[in-house]
Amino acid sequence: MPSSALILLNRPSLSAASHRHDAPALTLFDPNSPVLSALDLSATRGDGIFETIGVGHGSPQALEHHLRRFTESARLLELPAPDIEVWRKAIAASIGAIDPEAEAAVKIVLSRGVEGDNRPTGWAYASATPDYTAERVDGIAVITLDRGYRHDVEITSPWLLAGAKTLSYAVNRSVLREAARHGADDVIFVSSDGFVLEGPSSTVVYRVGESILTPGPRLGILDGTTQASIFRCAESLGLETGLAKPTPVDLGIADAVWLVSSVRLAAPVMRLDGLDIPVDRELTAQLNAFLLAVRE
Ligand code: PLP
Repeated sequence: MPSSALILLNRPSLSAASHRHDAPALTLFDPNSPVLSALDLSATRGDGIFETIGVGHGSPQALEHHLRRFTESARLLELPAPDIEVWRKAIAASIGAIDPEAEAAVKIVLSRGVEGDNRPTGWAYASATPDYTAERVDGIAVITLDRGYRHDVEITSPWLLAGAKTLSYAVNRSVLREAARHGADDVIFVSSDGFVLEGPSSTVVYRVGESILTPGPRLGILDGTTQASIFRCAESLGLETGLAKPTPVDLGIADAVWLVSSVRLAAPVMRLDGLDIPVDRELTAQLNAFLLAVRE
């Protein structure tokens, strides 16, 4: 079986016309074949949304949460609402077309389509994922970087789309190059007024004593699906969970810090802005075992 597969949706939203009246709802393509118009707004303007869903042994993880967030991102961008039932089928079909043994991921994309055409483009791309054992066990070095917006940007300036998972990730990639220049692996964004936000593709989770905390609410950051699963795991271990408004100093004196996300899972932060910070190896192993075992 191939290690990747691409499914194109004929009608990603019931609020817009289908692309071809005689085509099936889903079509499987070789991912290397040219399926996207060069005029698609995903390519020309990054105007669309996506989700990356972890897959373990053929099962998409935290699927309902990802679909909720996908719908919410579409709402924030005023895109035609995704037809969740057809997206569910597209996710299943793309996973079914690849090797079920490997750890994998499905990326689903809904773009505004070709300019002026009024039909969104949608696809699901399933592929095997890299081996993240080293990051999950040994940890990552992280620097904090100013995101340039205040912590309340979601409320004051909703047109900036903070908290939506848009396709415009050039900044989220450029900060990784900045991190590499500092000998670090990843980044934690900080608001211009000094509050910890999120990673460019992850949520910040930290431990203070018997509490597991994450930044929120309404900080213009993504509602993390992995963070939600981690809170369930922590609660099952008898730990308290909650939202907070930490500064980088709070992270520096925490008992442990993680960057958590659907594919890499829980990566402990072992160095923050050049200073070593404690790694809770036992809890990290428990969290990752839980995340690998969770199936919805
Ligand atoms: N924050 C941002 C900006 C992200 O891009 C991601 C995931 O890619 C996350 C947080 C973590 O979300 P999840 O745990 O659902 O993968």
